[in-house]
Amino acid sequence: MKTLNDFNFENKKAIIRVDFNVPLNDAFEVTDATRIVSAKPTIIKILEDGGSCILMSHLGRPKGVQDEFSLKHIVKKVEDVLGVEVKFVEACVGEKAEAAAANLQPGQILLLENLRFHKEEEAGDEAFSKQLSNLGDIYVNDAFGTAHRAHASTTIVAQFFEGKKCFGYLLEQEIQSIDKVMKTGEKPVLAILGGAKVSSKITIIENILDAVDHLIIGGGMAFTFVKAHGGKIGNSICEDDKMPLALDILKQAKEKGVQVHIPVDTIAADAFSNDANTQIVDIDAIPDGWEGVDAGPKSRAQFHDVVMQCKTILWNGPLGVFEMEKFARGTIELGNSIAEATKNGAFSLVGGGDSVAAVKQFGFEDKVSYVSTGGGAMLESLEGKILPGIAAILD
Ligand code: AMP
Repeated sequence: MKTLNDFNFENKKAIIRVDFNVPLNDAFEVTDATRIVSAKPTIIKILEDGGSCILMSHLGRPKGVQDEFSLKHIVKKVEDVLGVEVKFVEACVGEKAEAAAANLQPGQILLLENLRFHKEEEAGDEAFSKQLSNLGDIYVNDAFGTAHRAHASTTIVAQFFEGKKCFGYLLEQEIQSIDKVMKTGEKPVLAILGGAKVSSKITIIENILDAVDHLIIGGGMAFTFVKAHGGKIGNSICEDDKMPLALDILKQAKEKGVQVHIPVDTIAADAFSNDANTQIVDIDAIPDGWEGVDAGPKSRAQFHDVVMQCKTILWNGPLGVFEMEKFARGTIELGNSIAEATKNGAFSLVGGGDSVAAVKQFGFEDKVSYVSTGGGAMLESLEGKILPGIAAILD
């Protein structure tokens, strides 16, 4: 696997696919610069080598050229984060972009206009990719968030950089974190899968059974398993058509020696609302008209014990409806347990959609080992897929 440290960028122009798809407010100000901060180590290494950086990214989902999606809005923020002046060119291919790239001197940074102003980007168009490749000497992919897409800038462009392409530090870290869970991590390995739907996590569960010693199934997803075992789940969310699959997963887990932990109790609510009445009930004895919305006290204690035994921990999906304060406790306590285990030396990876939101909301970001920057890319990696953006570098 070629990484940044295998190259010296002196007098070289690096064309770097970054993920600067950052949120903007109505005044077009960046409200969360995490993705820019994440790309900083790669950019600084190249500048310190004596090279220059041509940064390319998408922003939002524009339909053709739309000013509101211009990357010009983020230039100031990128400069603040990097502490280096950033030149901007209102094109990503063609004469203007080529002239700006040609004029770039060692130590300088050029940001190209939104790649998705061209439909060829998402189409993975080869001619467009070739045009992008004309701008730089070495291709660096540091955008994990789009590594599961075979777009021009994430995948196709790599074919024009034979022997001159590598992962950036961020992408390298993402790959290593997933490898730790799936292959190289210290045992016992634990995966915690929560969230709403079994159907969206099925492939992950099946793939991960070969890698883990313990599996916690929590959140709304657990009720499909409980009902499949004949439990009474009231109005809790459930995918009836997935019940046979749930039983099959439990059978597979048993055969593979994976210990599965399903909540034993739940906080039941009489409405899907923060003002609902609540009661603690056994997970398989939820009264009619009530629904399970968070992990109960016995489950929280049980999960804490499991987490504390494990040396490698993956967390994907909340344990309850954490968006409502009243039902956030299971998710918060799990975060606390993972933070404690991490402090004691465990490796913890949080990734994929809502668990990242929960980790940020409750301040666990710095208390876990790694928070993935890619939602879909992370989930597809856990499903065992080799992402096109990664494969294109390994080629
Ligand atoms: P997912 O995108 O599948 O990871 O699901 C995340 C969502 O699951 C969050 O919005 C949670 O509110 C929701 N969730 C977690 N536990 C439950 C539950 N017991 N009942 C309904 N929704 C839940």
